[in-house]
Amino acid sequence: SSFKKVSLSQEILQALSRLNYHQPTLVQAKVIPNILKKKDMIVKSQTGSGKTAAFGIPICELVDWEENKPQALILTPTRELAAQIKEDITNIGRFKRIKATVIYGKQPFDRQKNELKQKSHVVVGTPGRVLDHINKGTLVLERIQYFVIDEADEMLNRGFIEQVEAIMAKLPENRVTLLFSATIPESIKQLCQRYMNEPIDIEI
Ligand code: AMP
Repeated sequence: SSFKKVSLSQEILQALSRLNYHQPTLVQAKVIPNILKKKDMIVKSQTGSGKTAAFGIPICELVDWEENKPQALILTPTRELAAQIKEDITNIGRFKRIKATVIYGKQPFDRQKNELKQKSHVVVGTPGRVLDHINKGTLVLERIQYFVIDEADEMLNRGFIEQVEAIMAKLPENRVTLLFSATIPESIKQLCQRYMNEPIDIEI
């Protein structure tokens, strides 16, 4: 199996080859075609499975470079993960010149605010700071079409789930929602039922 079998543009295939991603991992093979078809998905998978690229590749493929407002929002529980995801998206979107912005706590708000004023296709962040930017009007959600909750069970463990839900409630209804988690506890299931549209369940 190779990435060339999935319908991806030359810009993305070229970036994958430069990253030495020659064939999709299991989670990528199952997830990428469904995101390209704009399906909601609940994906039970571990870190190390290649899950970042599983959502990063199709999001970079689908994002419209011309649009100036953010089109994808990715929430993750830690600053380290947020920085890593931003890096991965930047690498995958390199030849499409995809701009990713990372926003998390314990960093100057104003610097992030200025960065969000520039063109930003993909925003990656931790829930508290993302909610701050939404409430202050420095992160606009009106063009968000792709929403990812990464490590949902960790969000729950850290007490972030209410902030995640507050963010979800503010997103445009016509969007793709993707949830990744190593385990799917009952409260996560309920969140999915409330905010997702006939999600496909995938277990790796
Ligand atoms: P993740 O599960 O997203 O943390 O990814 C785990 C590691 O696998 C990261 O170092 C990625 O760069 C790498 N990786 C992701 N997809 C592929 C692929 N298709 N081929 C080779 N390495 C990959």
